[in-house]
Amino acid sequence: MNIQINLAIIAIVIVIPFVSYYVWQDDPTKDIQIQTDNEKLNVVASFYPMYEFTKEIGRDKVSVSLLIPPGMEPHDWEPTVKDIQQIQQSDMIVINGFGFEQWIKDIKNFNSEIQITDTSFGITPIRNIDEHEMEGIDYDPHIWLNPKTIKIQVQNIATSLKEQDPKNADYYARNAQEYLNKIDSLDKKIRDDIYKCPKKDFIAFHDAFSYFAKEYGLNQHTVLKTSAVYEEATVQSLEDTINLAREFDIKIIFTEEFSNPKITQVIADELGGKVLVLSPLEIEKEGYTFLDRLETNVENLKEALC
Ligand SMILES: [Zn+2]
Repeated sequence: MNIQINLAIIAIVIVIPFVSYYVWQDDPTKDIQIQTDNEKLNVVASFYPMYEFTKEIGRDKVSVSLLIPPGMEPHDWEPTVKDIQQIQQSDMIVINGFGFEQWIKDIKNFNSEIQITDTSFGITPIRNIDEHEMEGIDYDPHIWLNPKTIKIQVQNIATSLKEQDPKNADYYARNAQEYLNKIDSLDKKIRDDIYKCPKKDFIAFHDAFSYFAKEYGLNQHTVLKTSAVYEEATVQSLEDTINLAREFDIKIIFTEEFSNPKITQVIADELGGKVLVLSPLEIEKEGYTFLDRLETNVENLKEALC
């Protein structure tokens, strides 16, 4: 048997089970147009922050498609058959990394040519301390919420775009620099506004802010005890949160745009406090940019801490 046939058999053995595994997950009501543009670099981004960062750098030279559909929560998401087709027709895929996209390990079976841009490259990870470790996810993935780590992600995307499309290298470098400058101003605003606040402890809804908290000398506590965003808060977790809030004199409890606000409202009512949004920025919100929303987070945090 020659080597070509061997490879073909290996491909069948590997590819078929993967495809059939995902078939049942394909939602027939979801009608994705496979977007490709022959004139432009075709890039697929795993989830909302990666999509927006790539568009900011690629602008009109790059056709970017978002893999996880709008409104869908990215934790534990898996690609469908249509998503695999989109990936097959793309030049490059941008992922967060640190295990957030567990499905990425199989992607080379579908498109061996695709460039995988892992935006976590060069970032020092924070280890997970909860049960995610048992699922083989060792690192906290939420690097897109800390301006300092976002900058590394943006630089990694810019480097890949320059490699894939060298004739527009200067264009990507300029766009990336402009975006990095905006992130720098936001970082400065956080240091000016939040550093001086007397309180250092805050209660987020899920554990999305470890990198942010570490960067700015804050302590994150959470209502949910895991990253499972759909997890129901238990009576015990509500009681624990209320006790914690009393201990740290916390009056503002944070919710997320797409989670049930009743859970946090119950806690805030008990404390005589209020609910504000601290967005994990995992899902697109129409009419707002990623950096606008990050700035709103900072304003709400300032209200809670100062
Ligand atoms: Zn999260």
